Amino acid sequence: MSEHIVVAKFGGTSVADAAQLRKISSIIRSNPERRFIVVSAPGKRFPEDRKVTDLLLDCFEKASAGKSFAEELEQIRMRFREIIDGLKMVFPLNEEIRTLEHALLTDPQRDYAASRGEYLTAKIMAQYLGFTFVDPAWCVCFDEDGQLNSLMTRRTMRASLLPLNRAVIAGFYGADMNGRIHTFERGGSDITGSLAACAVNADLYENWTDVSGLYAADPGIVEHPETVSYMSYRELRTLSYMGASVLHSDAVLSASEMEIPINIRNTNMPENMGTTIMRHLPAGVAKNPVTGVSGRKGMSVVQIEKVMVSDGSGFSALMLDILKERALPFEYCLTGIDSITLVIRSSLLNSCKEELFAEIRDTLHPDFIGVRDGLSLIAVTGEKATESSDANVRVLEKLTQEGIELVTINQGAGKLNLLIGVPEDRYEDAIRAIYEYRQSISPRTPS
Ligand code: ASP
Repeated sequence: MSEHIVVAKFGGTSVADAAQLRKISSIIRSNPERRFIVVSAPGKRFPEDRKVTDLLLDCFEKASAGKSFAEELEQIRMRFREIIDGLKMVFPLNEEIRTLEHALLTDPQRDYAASRGEYLTAKIMAQYLGFTFVDPAWCVCFDEDGQLNSLMTRRTMRASLLPLNRAVIAGFYGADMNGRIHTFERGGSDITGSLAACAVNADLYENWTDVSGLYAADPGIVEHPETVSYMSYRELRTLSYMGASVLHSDAVLSASEMEIPINIRNTNMPENMGTTIMRHLPAGVAKNPVTGVSGRKGMSVVQIEKVMVSDGSGFSALMLDILKERALPFEYCLTGIDSITLVIRSSLLNSCKEELFAEIRDTLHPDFIGVRDGLSLIAVTGEKATESSDANVRVLEKLTQEGIELVTINQGAGKLNLLIGVPEDRYEDAIRAIYEYRQSISPRTPS
């Protein structure tokens, strides 16, 4: 048996129907290192389609309201029937559906219902591939309050998986000591994949989806943006935070702790190597100082002025305490000589603006406090290739040339991110301009 271990997770569109399952089995079979497979529940086959998890949640809602859920249950049964027949398998589907129906009628539980898509997909896939089926209820350990118990999960998963030659594990859920099922957040099969990769200390965690990796910019704004071949965990976290998400952020966190490289791949284009996320770039790979550009609209900038804010009297600390007491998150805070600038999501700020400003006035007696809405925040992300990289300066120059107002600018000494606040109505122009600059400095790929 190969020494290398690859954990491969396949998302909803990769298991959406029999044709997709056939594709993924040839992907799995083409590399014997792919020993541990994690699957989501069948996702959408076309835009108006419904995800099996959504149908299951509908069943739960109706069951708990005492209404009939027969129609939704039948749709779920049909989805799996198509898969089983398409794969020419014999599988006790009706029995499984009856078990689910009985549970919904007698004791409807949200997480149990939501988890059945992954459960059935993994069981079918394991049988189809001739792998062992692993129910995460045995090895993904939750506490009774629904929080993941990471330590116990790592130990139990390791003990369950390593002795197996090959296995298919259902994503998205686990169970507590009483056997009660708990799910992660939506999209949480990524987390199961990452937990499995950490538990077996995998050499690689592959995340198969319907895009060939991470784009350097939002394809809804920039036409055919480039896919980034390599990026660091830190870069991925920033890009995902700012909205460019293909992978659940908790999944990135655990893989990065163990330094397990993550490879985002496209089930429909397996020949494309996608994006690999790791701590350091492999030797010899030329890197663009700007890895990607992402952003969010709906931001407000709060400006608080007071003579000698930075004189050590604790003005900034008191200001941040006020935000902490209100559990009000902010995107960033800049302190200057006579002022503090806070960037906060407008929706969060608007829900408490009057009381917040009153409290700041009463406690800190600022000379001025004001807010400007209608901003977007843009992150220009890149572990800068050289310390002397002037990419961030050039980005600002480019935006200025385009006549885009730079409302706030924030660059930490680490230079990982340049955060720029620009008016919302110039957001798309700014993203396009920065992407254009990125392409103009693209290192040539060695021929
Ligand atoms: N099936 C779940 C969802 O639709 C989990 C996942 O796909 O990762 O959110």
